[in-house]
Amino acid sequence: MAQKTVLFKHLEQPEIHRLDVYRDAGGYGALRTAVNDLAPAEVTQMVKDSGLRGRGGAGFPTGMKWSFLPKEYDTSYLVCNADESEPGAFKDRELMERNPHQLIEGCLLAAYAIRARHAFIYVRGEYLAIKELLDAAIEQARQAGLVGERIFGKDWGCEVSVYRGAGAYICGEESAMLDSLEGFRGFPRLRPPFPAVRGLYGKPTVVNNVETLANVPHIVANGAEWFKSTGTEKSPGTKICSISGPVNRPGNYELEMGTPFRYLLEDCAGGMAGGKSLKAYIPGGASAPMLPGDCQDVGIDFESYPAAGSTMGSASFILFPEDCCIVFAQLRISEFFSHESCGKCTPCREGSRWLRQMVERIEEGGGREEDLPILLDVTDNMVGKCFCALGDFATSNIVASIRHFRHEYEQHIRERRCPFRPHPAAEPLLQIAGVA
Ligand code: SF4
Repeated sequence: MAQKTVLFKHLEQPEIHRLDVYRDAGGYGALRTAVNDLAPAEVTQMVKDSGLRGRGGAGFPTGMKWSFLPKEYDTSYLVCNADESEPGAFKDRELMERNPHQLIEGCLLAAYAIRARHAFIYVRGEYLAIKELLDAAIEQARQAGLVGERIFGKDWGCEVSVYRGAGAYICGEESAMLDSLEGFRGFPRLRPPFPAVRGLYGKPTVVNNVETLANVPHIVANGAEWFKSTGTEKSPGTKICSISGPVNRPGNYELEMGTPFRYLLEDCAGGMAGGKSLKAYIPGGASAPMLPGDCQDVGIDFESYPAAGSTMGSASFILFPEDCCIVFAQLRISEFFSHESCGKCTPCREGSRWLRQMVERIEEGGGREEDLPILLDVTDNMVGKCFCALGDFATSNIVASIRHFRHEYEQHIRERRCPFRPHPAAEPLLQIAGVA
């Protein structure tokens, strides 16, 4: 297993953000091929055959998602989810910053496949510089006849607009994102109907993540078989992994799917900083259950992490060293979810607050023996009972941290204090969660 440079071409060609360099490297060739030689359904079939799965976290087959649109419609939309608000995730940022035309071409190809004439890129509120960079790249592409009316002289055209969110985690949920795009407060929508049938402005809509769409030009240019030749049978292709916490070289690394986490930690990130050992890690951002530090041979793909008791999610790895207090780390995670709950449904609105309050009490030395069963009971009353997935996300690390580190909770309760204080090792998580 080794690092790959399919999506991260900027590592070999730092100037690839420029339209001329991107085109010299073959950029927009896939769009030309599609618009001139392929019917929209053929592009969808190619992506279906490639086995590409959504890189935002859910792993849903991309081509299948595109084919859920009704047979007949007058208007449809493509929305690129660039909200990237999962704590620990920063891969889409690099993709957009370093190679914006790869994403724009991916958006245009997906729009062509679903016969959309307008694509929106919904960028998280904090990414102001990236919005400006994308706007400039889109304008360059428009001047070159690659965006707008009659692309490559054909009877199809597509506008691409960048919309900046206001920094709410819930707007990364696709239906809340559509509300936000329409100018409303971002609340998840009741489904069905799903966005493929009734999405943006009530029209059939596909929502795809940045990394998902960035893969599409490569698939159309090189074919489905080429894409499937990398990765695992059920998780083909590469995955960009963000790794943060006390490692020697934190950052983004593009790896073949199925590469063991140990390779990411040791060979890419240079191992743990200061020679410390790894106590625990979260493989998919704050919403994925944490695993003990010795679970290092798990393959980074959509199947291996569920088998190990977690999820790969967006492959945003947050690491906790040996001297990190797990209860304190959990408190920061619970604070995040309590803050980001949109308040629409009671189990999440109240439950996430109760979880935060109880973990805080335990960390502060006021925990009671009955707190652990009550914590787990609250999670039971949230999982599967909330309006959207955020409710489940708020519980996943409570359950996992008690499962793997119950003794730390019990020690806090027994000694009526945090045995790790002071705990500077938790600072990186604090910063990631935006509460430092
Ligand atoms: Fe809002 Fe939470 Fe309910 Fe989702 S689960 S709708 S975030 S309150």
